[in-house]
Amino acid sequence: MALSFRRLNRISYRRLAALCPLQYNNIQVKLTESPGEKPKDTSRVVFGSVFTDHMLEIDWTVEKGWESPLISPYHDFPMSPATSALHYGIECFEGMKAYRGVDGKVRLFRPMENMQRMFNSGQRLCLPAFDKEEFLKCIKRLVHIDADWVPKEPDCSLYIRPTFIGYQPSLGVGPSKRALLYCILSPVGPYFKDGGFKPVSLLADPRYVRSWPGGMGDCKAGGNYGATVLTQVEAERRGCQQVLWLYGDDYKLTEVGTMNMFIYMKNEQGVNELVTPPLDGLILPGVTRKSIVELAQKWENIQVSERSITMQEVVKALEEGRLMEMFGAGTACVVCPVDRILYNEKNYHIPTMDNGAPIAKRAHKELTSIQWGETPHEWSVPVSD
Ligand SMILES: *Cc1c(COP(=O)(O)O)cnc(C)c1O
Repeated sequence: MALSFRRLNRISYRRLAALCPLQYNNIQVKLTESPGEKPKDTSRVVFGSVFTDHMLEIDWTVEKGWESPLISPYHDFPMSPATSALHYGIECFEGMKAYRGVDGKVRLFRPMENMQRMFNSGQRLCLPAFDKEEFLKCIKRLVHIDADWVPKEPDCSLYIRPTFIGYQPSLGVGPSKRALLYCILSPVGPYFKDGGFKPVSLLADPRYVRSWPGGMGDCKAGGNYGATVLTQVEAERRGCQQVLWLYGDDYKLTEVGTMNMFIYMKNEQGVNELVTPPLDGLILPGVTRKSIVELAQKWENIQVSERSITMQEVVKALEEGRLMEMFGAGTACVVCPVDRILYNEKNYHIPTMDNGAPIAKRAHKELTSIQWGETPHEWSVPVSD
């Protein structure tokens, strides 16, 4: 049902988009005359609070298709109070980063993965199809123009936030006849302050779910996140830092906060297994998750499994001393170790850090070394030559 609907939508919108496709070559650039001040110490900047000098905008209408991409000084939008994004959550976004490499070059990490995911999220919201390669070229140009904003400090980067909204100024619930694809940039500090690899504690409360079969948990749609704020506040009230999202009568583990999840354990057959929940529609298909799976498949003496795992299996493995590590994975932190789960009013110590988290650390090291250009790799894409 969901699939056939998606295909229908894709076909009709492809036809429309073909009339006037998104084309990088038409890009117009208006540079700022008053460049902003860059942070003196990016490591102290609050996440997502500082923006660069320029932004990218591409308008779409059902009548004309895609307009010329425009890069211009960062600004507010004129917006009808009836705009569909505001009323019905017709909005999706991406999160990626530009890294200043050890050689000074600016690189992106697997950016086509983000383009494809944004395309999929847009399709789920009946937003128009766009050419992924062309949109990436526009983003690269934006990052190139604001390249001085890519921090030089260690572990700091330029966060890239492509956004796609329904921009129709009327209240009907239906596919938006106007849309806006845009991108803003924000210099960000390290996820772990003072260099540490600090573990987090999790609240696992099955009364809350993040996603469900047939929903849009596999899309980076704004509506998925607004609904999690209350749960996050409750986690903090109960002395935890983030939420462990469970699903189903058997309490399957799905994600950690806004990260994918990995568990490293000796399974009941005595095999060292790195488990991450499968992409069954409940899980956001993370680029970091995919990369860790692909890297770990090459490691020796470890079996990588994309399979469901329940709280019962986790508790049993913990009690039998077989669970070794648990960590979240996402662009923001790369990997983030877990040291405690509050579940059914009981605290479970997770021994991730007790023997130094070798698997989490190895994943972190291999990925960051590619991202910062220390290890040449096809995943690492220069912004310009
Ligand atoms: C963005 C996100 C992730 C991580 O995806 P990456 O591509 O690795 O950054 C995981 N889970 C949720 C819910 C997310 O929104």
